[in-house]
Amino acid sequence: MTLVDQIVATPDVAIKPGTHLIRVGYYPKWRDHQRDPYLNIDPDQIVRQARDMGATVLEWAVPENHVFIEWDGVLPHPAQSLYDGDLLADVSRACRQYGVKLLLCWATNAIHEDMADWLRRDWATIQTTGFDLGKIGTYHRHICPNYQRHRQWVAGYVCELAQRYDIDGFIFDGPWFQHHHVWPRNADGSVACRICCDAYKQATGRDVPLKLDWSSRDCLDYIDYFKSEVYRGYIRWLTGVVRRKHPHLYISYNSPIYIWGGWGDSCTPDAADLADSFYVEMHLAGREELQPVLQLKLNRAALGGKPPEMYCKTFDLAVANFAYSRPPLCEVRALGYITLSEAAIIGIHSSMDENGRAHPERSSVYAEFGAEISPKMPYYVDAAPVEFAGIHFSERTRDLYAGENPSQYLVSPVGMAQLFAESQKTYGFVLDDNLEDLSRLGRHKMIVLANSACMSMEQAQAVREYVSGGGCLLATGETSLFDENDNLQRDFLLADVLGVRFNGPSSERLKHRGSPLHDRYPFLLKSHEISEGLQDRMISRRPWFEIEANADREILATWAQVREETDFGCVNGGLEIIGDSQLPAIVAGRFGKGKVVYCACDISGQYMFEMNRHIRMLVRQAARWLSRDAVEVAAPKHVHFAITAQTGQSRVVLHFVNVLFNNKSANEVLGHGFPYDPAAYRKREGTADPCCSQPGRTDGLAAECIRQYRAKHVRKESYCPTGADQLSAYDEVIPLHGIKVSIDPRAYAFSRAFDIDTGKTLACGVTDDGRREIVLDELQVYRGIVLQM
Ligand SMILES: [Zn+2]
Repeated sequence: MTLVDQIVATPDVAIKPGTHLIRVGYYPKWRDHQRDPYLNIDPDQIVRQARDMGATVLEWAVPENHVFIEWDGVLPHPAQSLYDGDLLADVSRACRQYGVKLLLCWATNAIHEDMADWLRRDWATIQTTGFDLGKIGTYHRHICPNYQRHRQWVAGYVCELAQRYDIDGFIFDGPWFQHHHVWPRNADGSVACRICCDAYKQATGRDVPLKLDWSSRDCLDYIDYFKSEVYRGYIRWLTGVVRRKHPHLYISYNSPIYIWGGWGDSCTPDAADLADSFYVEMHLAGREELQPVLQLKLNRAALGGKPPEMYCKTFDLAVANFAYSRPPLCEVRALGYITLSEAAIIGIHSSMDENGRAHPERSSVYAEFGAEISPKMPYYVDAAPVEFAGIHFSERTRDLYAGENPSQYLVSPVGMAQLFAESQKTYGFVLDDNLEDLSRLGRHKMIVLANSACMSMEQAQAVREYVSGGGCLLATGETSLFDENDNLQRDFLLADVLGVRFNGPSSERLKHRGSPLHDRYPFLLKSHEISEGLQDRMISRRPWFEIEANADREILATWAQVREETDFGCVNGGLEIIGDSQLPAIVAGRFGKGKVVYCACDISGQYMFEMNRHIRMLVRQAARWLSRDAVEVAAPKHVHFAITAQTGQSRVVLHFVNVLFNNKSANEVLGHGFPYDPAAYRKREGTADPCCSQPGRTDGLAAECIRQYRAKHVRKESYCPTGADQLSAYDEVIPLHGIKVSIDPRAYAFSRAFDIDTGKTLACGVTDDGRREIVLDELQVYRGIVLQM
């Protein structure tokens, strides 16, 4: 099977990869911004502008206040009387006229100030949910997921919108609730939400445990119930409401799965049935490129291969709000191309200002980007990513083994993803359910179990068959040392595959408790194809256990012996090596027709803390020994690389995105929620407006902090003319030269390689080992290279 064969056909959904989506109409939203937008708004002009930007879909926010919340039904919001006619009907008409699809968006369970009267009608009940009426309208106040009166209203609202207007679907901003909703305690010691307690009792006959304790079975049962019945149950219910009304309507939800938590703190297996897509809103800023890429990949895995959506949020440094001001073009381009390179749906975030008019600077950036990508869209539509490796994301390990500190596990798969990304190795995620499915595993040349501690017999068996049948495995740490319920096993469930035996706790590590050696310990690389050209000693965190290698494996690395009174102040970190313990740290070998590398330490988790380039080189060479990628790239670590293949096309596209542009470091300090974010600053001071929508102004002290920072650290800046204190981020890209790409001609027998932007054919050399080689003379933000078969 070649990599081209692995491409999954794009599911038949209304909005496909390569779709260019624009979110507008986020304003008018809040009460204090409503008057001007309703007076000024011109749907025809806005839709026409979106079309001119190349958008094929318009997402129009219909906040709770478009149709007003009445106890007995739905009525137009009073502000609508300021508009001559029915605003949404005019939006829909304009969309149809200009051939643009229309999705309506609203927050399913956000509570804002206009709901106060509605909530007071049933105050006795609302109070039992622990809801504080005084906080209505503050950002992210959400109502209880089990409060049926609100659900009825939501259902009525959605059906009313679908009935009244000619639309193509819904984007739901939510649902937003997490399992700890029940746990803030009442004065009498009971858990906070009576409605949720009653619902649990009715469903299971049991009481919600009094406190969140990850070591208690009762608690874990409740969390399981919350995820499947409350969180996923809510999505199932809402999707059902929409589907019953109009089966063809497109449905997407905001971030049900998130690497670091998520609104529902929940992975959703089989989510393909729950929604057409999931979306995230991202900016590059301090999160670099990894976070958006991880989200796209994780959402795709949860959606069973369907394309996820990404909104380029991108905001100005000074105003800290995504709906105002001019975003840096280089950031929009980088994030946009990352999205297209992952065969996802690209969205841009609002080009309207608080007056209901198209924001001039924002619109011009989006128009420029739209004009750039529109002619190239034929290369991005109906595509799917080619994922060489599949990295397991173990929900069981996160929840059970890591418990209240999920990072204890998450650093392992995320660190591995980072190692792969920085080595330009293509990968996707494999969720717990996927790991039982041999045919699903077979889509990848290599499976990576990065400290996948909790594993079921079924999962272990599927991995065993995958490897014995010729698949490759890279495993680390405590992989398969616990069953799916977090019970420690006598030996690794995958002992035969990993080629090791569990030898009990390490007396060495115990000895070093309290010493820096506890967290950083040297190991010695042996002579092997993998260690060729690498330095012979490296550092990671020694595991708490020891292993013995099976006779059929080669020992790739052993733990060193270190002078006990080693001085950590000295040049090499004090790791003065005095000998070799001969205790194995990494083993490599074959199992059946497949190859395996097992590393006893959690090498990728440690990488997240140390970012040691020697470790990166070691992992890259180990992966290369296991199975060489069809396409190998030699580039600096901040180059995002991806491959997509299109349904029915005899070509693949290689994508290169350079995320090294220098406004990013400034964004990192001044970004959303960081110390000099004016909105965050106001929130801390208690002077923030009762919602997140801050007008585009910065006040005294915060603005001064920003000015000082910029004067000190930012080399140049430009002012845009849309407001008193709006400093605009600038575009300055650091180009790269001489990136080498080598291609296995057996995987991709291409007749011609050409550049998407210029159409020019690229010269192709041949390497010593018979691969074909292309050298990119320059990479600004993006290059797309087509391999035509
Ligand atoms: Zn509740």
